Amino acid sequence: MSEKMLEGKTAVVTGAAKGIGKAIALAFAKEGCNIVLNYRSSVSDETIKEIEDCGVKCLPVQGDVSNFNFASDLMKQVKNEFGSIDVLVNNAGITKDMLLMRMSEEQFDSVIQTNLKGTFNMIRHVSSIMLKQKSGAIINMASVVGVMGNAGQANYAASKAGVIGLTKSTAKELGARGITCNAIAPGFVETDMTAVLTDEQKAKMLEVIPLGRYGQVEDIAKAAVFLATNTYITGQVLNVDGGMVM
Ligand code: NAP
Repeated sequence: MSEKMLEGKTAVVTGAAKGIGKAIALAFAKEGCNIVLNYRSSVSDETIKEIEDCGVKCLPVQGDVSNFNFASDLMKQVKNEFGSIDVLVNNAGITKDMLLMRMSEEQFDSVIQTNLKGTFNMIRHVSSIMLKQKSGAIINMASVVGVMGNAGQANYAASKAGVIGLTKSTAKELGARGITCNAIAPGFVETDMTAVLTDEQKAKMLEVIPLGRYGQVEDIAKAAVFLATNTYITGQVLNVDGGMVM
């Protein structure tokens, strides 16, 4: 039997009750990693059981990543209960799409607040713990939209481009202590987030994906396991998008 790649480690995954975050939590659990499952509204008992059935611990913690104090409390709690924080996946994210000239201040601010500020909050509070450990892997969920822009998503694109800048700066600041920080830029992945798009919008997307299929959550989870287990890759943006952006 092959050795599990994250045996005995602990990962915090934000927004992990469903979609990409849940797939990452499960993929890590299958590699022997204890999971701190952050969720905002609710998480099903079934999801927690699925993770525990991999033979690891699962600690569900409700909270909003955009809250600075929540991030601080979360990291202290995890450190106390597990002793270390080996991987942080900043996955929680939202969209509030609107054409720029009609976008409200609230639509802009709330997307930045969750996607960018939430990622900062978590990195800010995990960094002291990882610096003391002299190890750790931080993975931030960006998007191809943060690389190439997208009409109707100025708020989202700005937040994800910000995540990319934050990723590279974090990689430079923390690299000397063996901590990696990378971003994954998914293309179009079939989740609740993209289920709201019209059939016409989805068909248009497919035309620009060379591999000719939408991404699945497992495609992103595999990339997260790769980045969590490779200690000589940092400051990178890994596009997992079927070739949409190259
Ligand atoms: P999803 O199915 O909508 O899941 C997003 C998760 O984030 C939900 O569980 C949500 O919880 C949670 N969340 C939102 N705001 C939060 C907050 N303030 N604090 C804590 N949790 C929060 O979306 P997804 O497609 O899996 O997306 C996951 C990540 O991938 C996001 O960062 C997204 O931008 C990125 N991404 C997705 C795609 C795609 O095609 N799907 C492409 C590129 C990038 P609630 O449901 O309780 O609000």
